[in-house]
Amino acid sequence: MQALFGAAQPRAENTDLAFTDPLTGLGNHRRFIDKVDRLIGDRAEDPAPFTVGILDLDGFKPINDLFGHRAGDDILIQVALRLRAAMDGHSAVTRIGPDEFAFLLPMVFSEEAAAEKARMLIEILSAPYDVGERTARLSASVGCSLFFSGDETTEILLQKAETALYNAKRSGRGRVMVYSREMEEAAKRVTRIEQALRRAISASEVAPYFQPIVDLRTRRTIGFEALARWTDRDLGPVSPATFIPIAEERGFIGPLSQLVLRKATEAARSWPADLFLSFNLSPSQLVDQNTGLHILAILERTGFDPRRLEIEITETGLMSDPASAEKIVNDLRRCGIRVSLDDFGTGQSSLGRLREFQFDKLKIDRSFVSSILRDRPSEHIIRAILAMCEGLGMDVVAEGIEEEAQAERLIAFGCAGGQGYMFGKPADADATLAFLRDNLRGVRRAGAA
Ligand code: C2E
Ligand code: CA
Ligand code: CA
Repeated sequence: MQALFGAAQPRAENTDLAFTDPLTGLGNHRRFIDKVDRLIGDRAEDPAPFTVGILDLDGFKPINDLFGHRAGDDILIQVALRLRAAMDGHSAVTRIGPDEFAFLLPMVFSEEAAAEKARMLIEILSAPYDVGERTARLSASVGCSLFFSGDETTEILLQKAETALYNAKRSGRGRVMVYSREMEEAAKRVTRIEQALRRAISASEVAPYFQPIVDLRTRRTIGFEALARWTDRDLGPVSPATFIPIAEERGFIGPLSQLVLRKATEAARSWPADLFLSFNLSPSQLVDQNTGLHILAILERTGFDPRRLEIEITETGLMSDPASAEKIVNDLRRCGIRVSLDDFGTGQSSLGRLREFQFDKLKIDRSFVSSILRDRPSEHIIRAILAMCEGLGMDVVAEGIEEEAQAERLIAFGCAGGQGYMFGKPADADATLAFLRDNLRGVRRAGAA
């Protein structure tokens, strides 16, 4: 193996272009592979561990869009300088992708030390960047893996670091993960679910359940939210909180969503005409300009009036590409579809968003409702949200109402709409139709139960 001779060679620092990243002057992907190969060769005689890491800038694309590509390049050069300055004599950093860097730490022997070093790099990159007269800020995510034995090849080490990076990205911005066995188990489980779900979608086995949304004062049902349900033959029932993110990440949320919407509109056609259907869209669907067309095609095919449809989106969905999301939202609204902002008060809430986007409705997240009776801050937040919605002319629905006392408190604060187990759990299409037949409008479900 070439690596075996690595130590004997006179520090053959490949400065030729094939091993250099032209923008930053750092080594490139080939240089990195070469360096790791050599180190593995060296460690054949001296079995000490070492660390490789992959660092990925979070949300670099918006920076490019906002400041322009020249400025984007400028920032990458500054990132490269900072990373290089943070390396000691043994360590090396290279640029292996547009906004991805890899580092090799021969003297970092433990997971704790690897994580600490990675956190330091993130910290160094978090200081502001000068872009002409303006400044930009960046965060980064890092995945690390440690070399422990000669069974590990460069390829395996990098794969493990990628797996760790993927987990870091999944858990939010600015995170560090070091590869572990459990990660591999989790990755295997995700792949199993993915395969089973792809099959279930082609076999039309995913279906919507429907949860009533009520007028809090009269307790009249005014519409239903469609919630995807799937039971696999082997895996049993899988929660949408698990399978929706997998479909999103693996790029097949589109077909899944279309299947559920088609079934939901077919079911909702038999409901009284004044009931609306509310449907969830995932963040990645707001980046895909075909989403609007697909929705309208389904409404056309099933003959469901767009004015009876509401689309629920979260702020996360508006953030990754606001311009794309705005176009989709505006197209839908022009066709008469109403748009509501889901899970309000969690995640990356920004009141600025309510100025940029026009929403017809806002859904207050269950976390506030469940603590409304016990917690003064929650109470104040809910009152503030309600006052704001009134000012902006938006309807409001409070989610996750489980007790009468919560409903009463919300009514007292002036909240008009509610949803939660107290008024009904999600039920399948047949049970929903039966519920509508039994409970001629205006009858309380709780009273009937
Ligand atoms: P979500 O949109 O916030 O939906 C509300 C969730 O809260 C549902 O969970 C619902 O069953 C649950 N829930 C409603 N009332 C109560 C209550 O009183 N107490 C408690 N503890 N929970 C209540 P579910 O059905 O498990 O869905 C979870 C999430 O999965 C949804 O959150 C939504 O983000 C996503 N999801 C579900 N179906 C779809 C879909 O068809 N498309 C997309 N993109 N996402 C979906
Ligand atoms: Ca929802
Ligand atoms: Ca919600």
